[in-house]
Formats: sequence, structure tokens, C-alpha cells
Amino acid sequence: MSLNPTLPPSGVDWTQGFSQFTPGERGARRALRQFLREGLDDYANGRDRPDLDVTSRLSPHLRFGEISPHRILLELDKAVAANPRLSAPAAKFRSELAWRDFSYTLLRQQPRLHTTNFRNDFESFPWRSDPAALRAWRLGETGYDLVDAGMKELWATGYMHNRVRMVAASFLIKHLLIDWREGERWFWDCLLDADSANNPASWQWVAGCGADAAPYFRIFNPIAQAAKFDPQGVYRARWLGGELDSYVRADKAGTPNADLRRRPIVDHAFARQRALDAYHNRETHEPD
Ligand code: FAD
Repeated sequence: MSLNPTLPPSGVDWTQGFSQFTPGERGARRALRQFLREGLDDYANGRDRPDLDVTSRLSPHLRFGEISPHRILLELDKAVAANPRLSAPAAKFRSELAWRDFSYTLLRQQPRLHTTNFRNDFESFPWRSDPAALRAWRLGETGYDLVDAGMKELWATGYMHNRVRMVAASFLIKHLLIDWREGERWFWDCLLDADSANNPASWQWVAGCGADAAPYFRIFNPIAQAAKFDPQGVYRARWLGGELDSYVRADKAGTPNADLRRRPIVDHAFARQRALDAYHNRETHEPD
């Protein structure tokens, strides 16, 4: 398939960062082959690590129907038959693919999943309006390295690692108490794999208003998450470069060093307590 010559932008080429994905069936098959060869072995242990490149990156291909889950499962089975040592990571990979089906089941139940809380008792949740904080989040200027690196990766490449999506989404919803629909819309605009089922279902899961909601008291500490899943700061350095601050060297308990250069837009302990109060009040004032 050749590209329509009128499509590539004539001014600044903002598509450069998208080149890790080759659109089309051939690109999808190649991504699958590469994953089976180089990623699958470490998938179970490494899939949560944004600094390692072990996930399949098949999401845009699945999103646009360039490869079917059926084809993926078939090739997965062949890889396991050839190398039975792969059966454990293959099981993990299959279970992740199943989340996609689950999201589609929810979308079928609630066709307006991107605008409507799956649990309607969330309708009166006291979301904050804070355009400055929303803008800082979108631009990757929150002062929390893992969140900011993820938002910059998203803008530059149209992709963000799953673990970082969870942390960035949790930060918007719980640290900033901004309506999950704002985040869903931004991801929808920026992601190459923006999916009408996976995107809203995941956002609702993080917000706690989805079918299989994350417990409300699960508030990711972005500093501790960074220390755990990007221990050497490789991922953050890739996206923040010179901006990278001493959070990278935060200890395992998530305590940052004192010599911060970039100031966080909100204090973690304060934001955590504010979110706990808001969610707790909602639980205790649920209508009968
Ligand atoms: P792999 O780990 O290689 O997984 C293989 C495939 O399984 C993925 O391509 C995807 O189709 C499916 N999958 C994996 N994890 C999940 C998951 N948690 N939920 C549903 N399906 C999953 N995924 C999208 O495809 N489109 C979206 O718009 C989208 N938005 C998200 C928004 C948020 C806030 C969060 C937390 C997650 C979102 N996801 C979305 C799910 C997940 O982050 C991506 O599917 C995954 O990061 C894609 O990378 P990969 O193909 O390398 O994944």
C-alpha cells in the first residue's frame, strides 16, 4: 500500500515520532513476529516496566483491524508449541488480550461509555474545574517525572506504556480530582490506538466508576511507582532529558530528595488525602 502524497504534513512533520508503527497488515504481522521472537519471553515479568521494551505494541494494529486477536492467538500457540518454556508468559499475554474483549462487552452494554459513568451513583461526584492543572497535565508539566514522561511520550509518539497510562490517569483523576472524561478525551485525541471500548473502560476503571472499578483507596504514588517500575530512570530520562529531576533518585518508599528543581503542581500527601475524603464522602452518601 502506498501513502497518499497529499496526506503527509507539509509544514512541521509532527508524525515523525509515529514511525515505530508501520500501518497496515504487513506492519502488524511484523510487529507480532518481533514480539514473539524478542518480547514474549520476558512479558510476564517485564510488561509493567516502561524502561524495557517487551510488550507487543500491537494496539494500533488491533484498533484498526489490521490484525485479528484470532491470528495473534494462533501464532502464540505455535510459538508455545515450538518452545514450551513460553507457556507462562503466553498465558499472561492471552489474559491481557481478554481485557480488550471485556471492554467491548462493556461498550455493548453502555454504548456511551466515553461520556456516561458505568456506575450511575458517580453522577454527583464533586469533580474540580482547574484548567491550569489540566493544561499542565496535558503538557507533561506536573512536576512528577513519571507522569510527565508519559504525557510527553504520548504527545511525541501517539503511544504510552500501560503502567504509565495507569499512573498518569490516576494522577489526573485522584491527585487533581479532574473528571475522567477530560483525560479520556485527551487520550482519544493523542493515542494512535485510541479505542472506543478500551479507552473509556480503562479510564472508568481508574476513576472507580467502571464495572470492575479499582478500589477508591488505591491512589498511585507517582514517585513510588517511578522508583518501582523505572528503577534506573531510563524511561524518564528518555522523555524528560535535561528536565529530569532528583525524583529519579527517590528512595524505594517514594521519598524524593530535597533538592527538587521542578516543583510539583500539587503535594502528594495533600492530594491523596483530598481524594480519599472526596471518595469516602461519596461512598457514605450513596443514594439507596
Ligand atoms: P500488550 O501488553 O502487548 O497487550 C496486547 C494487547 O492486549 C494490546 O494491544 C491490547 O489490545 C490488549 N490489552 C493489553 N492491556 C490491556 C488493558 N489493560 N485493557 C484492554 N486491553 C488491553 N488500549 C487500547 O488499545 N486503546 C486505548 O485507547 C487504551 N486506552 C487506555 C487508557 C488508560 C487510562 C489505560 C490505563 C489503558 C488504556 N489501554 C488502551 C490499555 C493498554 O494500556 C494498551 O492496550 C496497551 O498499553 C497497548 O500496548 P501493547 O499493544 O504493547 O500491549
